[in-house]
Amino acid sequence: EADAEAQEKPGRLIVISNRIPTDEVPAGGLVYAIHEALNDIGGLWIGAGTPSDEAQEGLTEVKSEAYDKATFSLSRTEYDRYYLGYSNSVLWPLFHHRADLLSVYERDFEAYREVNRRVARAVAEIARPDDMIWIQDYHFLMLAREMRDLGLKNRIGLFLHIPFPNASDILALPQGPQIANWLAAHDLVGLQTQRDVAAARETLRRDPDCEAMGNGNWLFRGREFAVLSFPIGIDAEEFARKAAESPVPELQLSPDAPLLLGVDRLDYSKGLVHRFRGFGAYLEQRSQHGTRPTFLQIAPVSREDVSAYQDIREELERAAGSINGAYADLDWTPIRYVRRHVARERLAALFRRANVALVTPLADGMNLVAKEFVAAQNPDDPGVLILSHFAGAAEQMQAALMVNPFDHGNFAHAIDRALHMSLAERQDRHASLRENVFKQDIAWWTRTYLNRLSRVPAYQEDRPRD
Ligand code: ADP
Repeated sequence: EADAEAQEKPGRLIVISNRIPTDEVPAGGLVYAIHEALNDIGGLWIGAGTPSDEAQEGLTEVKSEAYDKATFSLSRTEYDRYYLGYSNSVLWPLFHHRADLLSVYERDFEAYREVNRRVARAVAEIARPDDMIWIQDYHFLMLAREMRDLGLKNRIGLFLHIPFPNASDILALPQGPQIANWLAAHDLVGLQTQRDVAAARETLRRDPDCEAMGNGNWLFRGREFAVLSFPIGIDAEEFARKAAESPVPELQLSPDAPLLLGVDRLDYSKGLVHRFRGFGAYLEQRSQHGTRPTFLQIAPVSREDVSAYQDIREELERAAGSINGAYADLDWTPIRYVRRHVARERLAALFRRANVALVTPLADGMNLVAKEFVAAQNPDDPGVLILSHFAGAAEQMQAALMVNPFDHGNFAHAIDRALHMSLAERQDRHASLRENVFKQDIAWWTRTYLNRLSRVPAYQEDRPRD
């Protein structure tokens, strides 16, 4: 009887991500969505603990109410090599098509493998057969393989929040030949876009052990797995409410001066220098007596311990300086560059105030800022989203003004068009964008992904699934 009961009880959800939130009710789209899913299903959230002198086996419980939280341990050396090293100086640049920024060290990969193995052992200790395991992002690409090697037969999913690299990028990765093996250890690999699924297909096809079955299904050494896109969304209602309710920060602009806004972590993938130059090109071709827009870029530094991030800050400050030097007047500063982190309420209000949002990454898994801007805008008199073809969001948001961030002329033209767009056209474009942002929101994303993962048939080791 005890057995029958155990079988009827649905399994828990075990989520593994590099970071776990410390607040009881976390803010921010992704963490909040996972928090909600865990509240619903019940389960365990595992993330990295604070680095210490020496790494320990197992998990440390974190006090939490509705569901369990735990950390795995990490030594300071591992933090340098697994997190700053292999994760953020190899996988991040490579997956953002910047093989030129790679710092490849064997010891960094060894630490990555060791951390993935330690987490696999810790999960194997506590997982029950019917638990569903959901791995988040590029910090754990080989975790599922390690879990399978320990004999775990659970449903295991991965969601990769960053772009999938092209097959030619993967040639720059020493572990490139193992990628198919790592992916195939999951039941479901979720990617942001169709473009990413196509890139993954290119890599999987080259692997002699992989066979395409159609509809995103693959066979790897006789075992089936799926690679599909699940574009992540935001909590649109919540963000729209925040934007409408929060007071707009004092900007010292004349009330009718157009405001262009950019909000990003300071990262080379965000195309900030290209954006500044594109705005510079707009200023150059603009008629002398035309409008005097202000471009406010908010970009707090991130990952300062990784060397590739130290140069962009200086480069950006130089670009802003030279553009302001050429065009500023006594009562007008064309570019304002703020390096501070801005509280979410203030940010939402700024998104609502902005006439134009510049979301122009050179590569980006999704880009949530594009969706936040659309949610924050007033539908009666909406602003214009200028969006790069290279943001994952471009697939769902074709009603934006699409730009090629590498082409300054194209960029300048888009800004001009945005600033002169008729109310009717702005409303049309916004209505279409808004529908998608509200429908395919963050709750839709978790629901769709977890539904798909829970429908995977039970694990079969040596026989293909039907
Ligand atoms: P990434 O995950 O690469 O940083 P996204 O655009 O997908 O890029 O997500 C960034 C998130 O961080 C968004 O929710 C955005 O509002 C928030 N954010 C970005 N820059 C700032 C900032 N300067 N202050 C506060 N929040 C920010």
